Amino acid sequence: MNKSDIKNFVQILKDTYPDATCSLDFQTPFQMVVAVMLSAQCTDERVNKTTPSLFARCKTIQDFADIDLTELESIIHPCGFYKNKAKNIKLCAKQVLENFNGEVPQTMDELLTLAGVGRKSANVILLEAFGIANGIAVDTHAKRISNRLGLSSQNDPEKIEQDLLKIFPKEHLKDINHLFVWHGRKTCDSRKPRCEECSVRNYCKYIKRDRVLNCVIWDRVFFCAKRDLVPYLVIIHQ
Ligand code: SF4
Repeated sequence: MNKSDIKNFVQILKDTYPDATCSLDFQTPFQMVVAVMLSAQCTDERVNKTTPSLFARCKTIQDFADIDLTELESIIHPCGFYKNKAKNIKLCAKQVLENFNGEVPQTMDELLTLAGVGRKSANVILLEAFGIANGIAVDTHAKRISNRLGLSSQNDPEKIEQDLLKIFPKEHLKDINHLFVWHGRKTCDSRKPRCEECSVRNYCKYIKRDRVLNCVIWDRVFFCAKRDLVPYLVIIHQ
């Protein structure tokens, strides 16, 4: 995609999903950290049903550090992987209190020192809690969409992020973070992408590949047809 394609691509997605924002509920930066941890392998909807009782029980970071592990596990049980998540939440709270004077740090390097916070989570925390968009959180949706659109052929989220950062200028990073998640949830489904109604299908390598259904070689002429069976490619073999 050239510069103007990128601008159009982002604008089309913005027009398609004008309400695209983070769907996790939180009030404070540490609540954001907790919500992101709980959202691993869990829907945001389920996290949002769980956090009100958790945040009512733990009002401060100290409360998260002090809460009995078993009690914390039972509150966050619906979010899955509750044992690991509870352990990380408690340890993370202690680390924020001891290493960062009780303030959630605002840099990638510092966030990565916290228990249970990886690069993807750190990007979400920076963006949602502090409005800092320096990277792109490559979750399952961003990974799938990047591959299908042909923006990255990598599998590793970090390498995909590096590819995306070469394509999208800084001013688009905030939007891209939200738009890829929404596009993945609403249109570019993992099993059944709704390509026919996709607003960015003209930019998509997946649909171009998928549309080639019939190819025949006749004499030295190579014909391909799209889904609607209209020939679109003719190559003369030498
Ligand atoms: S055209 Fe299909 S595969 Fe490509 S981005 Fe749209 S929904 Fe996904």
